[in-house]
Amino acid sequence: VHVLLLGAGGREHAIGWKLKQAERCGKIWFAPGNGGTREVGTNVDLPFDPVNTKNVDAIDRFCRENGIGLVVIGPEDPLCAGLADRLAAPGRAVFGPVAEAAKLEGDKAWAKDLMRGALIPTADSRTFTRHEPARAYAEARETPVVVKAAGLAKGKGVLVTRSAEEAVAAVDDLMLKKSFGGAGETVIIEERLAGQEVSVLALVDGQNLRVLDPAQDHKAVGEGDTGPNTGGMGAYCPTPVLDEKTLRVIEREVLVRAVDALRRGGVAFRGVLYAGMMLTAGGPKTLEFNTRFGDPETQPLMMRLRGDLLELMLATCAGTLDQVPLDWDPRVCVGVVVCAGGYPGAYRKDDPVGGIDEAEEDPDVKVFHAGTRIDRDGLLVTAGGRVLCVCALADDLATAREKANAAAAKIRFPGAFFRRDIGGRVS
Ligand code: ATP
Repeated sequence: VHVLLLGAGGREHAIGWKLKQAERCGKIWFAPGNGGTREVGTNVDLPFDPVNTKNVDAIDRFCRENGIGLVVIGPEDPLCAGLADRLAAPGRAVFGPVAEAAKLEGDKAWAKDLMRGALIPTADSRTFTRHEPARAYAEARETPVVVKAAGLAKGKGVLVTRSAEEAVAAVDDLMLKKSFGGAGETVIIEERLAGQEVSVLALVDGQNLRVLDPAQDHKAVGEGDTGPNTGGMGAYCPTPVLDEKTLRVIEREVLVRAVDALRRGGVAFRGVLYAGMMLTAGGPKTLEFNTRFGDPETQPLMMRLRGDLLELMLATCAGTLDQVPLDWDPRVCVGVVVCAGGYPGAYRKDDPVGGIDEAEEDPDVKVFHAGTRIDRDGLLVTAGGRVLCVCALADDLATAREKANAAAAKIRFPGAFFRRDIGGRVS
């Protein structure tokens, strides 16, 4: 089976790397891919803006010409814009939900309504489409709130506030200053919860659900979870904070309920359903849904997955997920993201990257690329803020972190930095 993988991140490199190990995997193309994806396949320059019909036609043609049997859509934007719907064709499996199902991620107000209707545990909230009532509500709240833009904002449209003043400023920012454009036209104001955050991902084939081992990530740029938020500085899997019993509660009360609610509305969810959970004193509560693999959680997940990812993905598309075995390496994986100096602010680019082979000398270490590319001279150079994700497996979390840190320290480019405390919250 030939595969086309859409996306450019560490997530896509890890998915491609795992797919390549599958018995029936043929050629893999990445669009656009990065400097590392070339080791498992071929990078092609295919624009995938699904709003532009010409682009969709170009992808469709590429698939027909190359006999693509599986298209994997990595990021959320094309899913929410309906790329999975548009690429559907006989004999071609498209991994990723249709737009109506991706709305769980793309429209937080709609997702909140669905959660309420399906009795999915989540933070109490109200939705506003007009500025004045939103402001008045934010002003009157006595306990801290979180103000969220309903639309996609690359993880930046969520403002966790500490006081009524901050909440009002957040409402003004989203609704008056329109800092996130149309994404902030509708705003959700919800109670601020406290607890450990856990990512619970499941493969869903429309009917059957297979929950993956739970992971945790670190968003803040600085050690001790300090400083501004980033796309993710590291992740580990499995996490000890979630016992089997609570995981089953989340499966039943969150994931299954969401999939059933969609189905009652005539929508089959096929792909990855990702519940961002907070483990509060009052039980697990849903913060958000994503409708794709997370980055960087996917890198540790793929390191530990022992099943055949190609068969799992094809079965997800075909509705036969219950027939494919899914197994895990019992070891723990820690993934450490090596960033370019200055990130998440302005950062340097085009610096040569070295040390990857040395880092991978340890057989339990794998380096996934994110912001890298090959320049005209064939050199591997930096091309993004999050450059690499260095993953290590070990019997326990502390050892996995040590190994990942030791390997990450071998990576060389000017200004390279990483957090040494990934997983430090729990061990
Ligand atoms: P991302 O794409 O980065 O996962 P997002 O923009 O989709 O983020 P959320 O995950 O809903 O938004 O929120 C981002 C972060 O804000 C969460 O990871 C969590 O730390 C915090 N957060 C969200 N909702 C709440 C809440 N009700 N109480 C406390 N913190 C919250």
